Amino acid sequence: EFDLPAREAKLIARRDAVLGASYRLQYRRPVHFVRGEGMWLYDPDGRAYLDFYNNVPSLGHCHPEVNAAMADQAARISANTRYLEPRLVDYAERLVDTFPEELSRVVFTCTGSESNDLALRIARLASGGEGVIVSSYAYHGTSAAAAAVSPNLGDAVKLSPFVRMVSLPGPAGIPESQAADFFEAQVRSAIRDLNRRGIDVAALLIDSIFSSDGVWVDPPGFIAGGVAAVQDAGGLVIADEVQPGFGRTGTHMWGFERHGIVPDLVTLGKPMGNGFPIGAVVGRKAPMERFGAIARYSNTFAGNTVGIATADAVLTIIQRDRILENALAMGRRLRAGLEEMAKQHPAIRATRNAGLFIGVDIGSAETPSSDRRAMALDVVNAMRDDGVLISTTGANEDALKVRPPLVCQAEHVDLFLATMGRALTTIGGEASSQEHV
Ligand code: PMP
Repeated sequence: EFDLPAREAKLIARRDAVLGASYRLQYRRPVHFVRGEGMWLYDPDGRAYLDFYNNVPSLGHCHPEVNAAMADQAARISANTRYLEPRLVDYAERLVDTFPEELSRVVFTCTGSESNDLALRIARLASGGEGVIVSSYAYHGTSAAAAAVSPNLGDAVKLSPFVRMVSLPGPAGIPESQAADFFEAQVRSAIRDLNRRGIDVAALLIDSIFSSDGVWVDPPGFIAGGVAAVQDAGGLVIADEVQPGFGRTGTHMWGFERHGIVPDLVTLGKPMGNGFPIGAVVGRKAPMERFGAIARYSNTFAGNTVGIATADAVLTIIQRDRILENALAMGRRLRAGLEEMAKQHPAIRATRNAGLFIGVDIGSAETPSSDRRAMALDVVNAMRDDGVLISTTGANEDALKVRPPLVCQAEHVDLFLATMGRALTTIGGEASSQEHV
């Protein structure tokens, strides 16, 4: 159907034969990259694509200093956590220093899924409960326990009697002035419903920018009442920082800080190693100690010296290069450009952002939801063909998900906006002839 070069068509056929259906390719015309540098990815013919999607290399692809730290440590030793290793302790201290003082303990993992899986174990042990409350289109990971609390995956949640989903005020159309009350009422009703079935609440597990629900960031603080309700009921609050963490929101290192809350456990992943697989659970002393005393946690690769050296370099660069300030400034520029564009293009229904995590609802309120989804997909694919990478999110997949590396500059933001303006004209939304640069 699409004019893929023979080289890519052959590779797709071989992938399908050996990897099968659970491996999906992004974009109608899949992309093949051989090199990454900063904001850019390059295909075998040397064509450059502007990456406004990957939040793992948040300091930019193949950051030379991060790579040097990784290679240097790999050339010395990759020790595990059963040996004395000062770098492990140094980094653990530096990491917990970026959190409110109540959050003083850390356990390392290799992925966000492992972090959530471990946090659920800790929460269940510390609370004595089993029930978990999540947002209605959340994704928290791929292990059996994390998948069971990820409604985004389809049938997983329906199978678990221990999981309750809460609606978010934004997608439910609740005005911001009532958002906090709405969310708290949802959480209280979920706790009651669990209790009626003889289940105590173990955890409220939330990604504070609700990335897979469609990026619902406002108003800051709207989760606070729901958080307090769970803590009052003896449950733990787990902030999943895999998406908002390490400065993406611009105003704070951690997404939960935007909401003025202190969770009991925090789960980390993706950008922690700028591409090296490393994650962590950071938490309050009491539940972490209780878990350590009763249970055993051994993870062969987690906290190995190469991962720690890499994550240490990442943290140093975030702090030294004022990455949060840049994320805030570039996020503002991007949002302002989108708001301008929305005046010209009726296809933009709404825009939202916290720093460099941006959601753009596509399709007018009158557009049927399946058409909106198709329009959003058309925009994503038109932009890919024009050399800019983004994707979609939300229960209806009709919001654009825009998450550039945090080192992006004004020229990249402007190129993104110009490309998106062109893409909107190709999907048939009425547009003025104005350039959106
Ligand atoms: N939590 C959230 C909010 C995520 O977005 C993801 C990954 N997309 C995960 C957890 C799981 O992380 P990983 O893929 O590293 O296991």
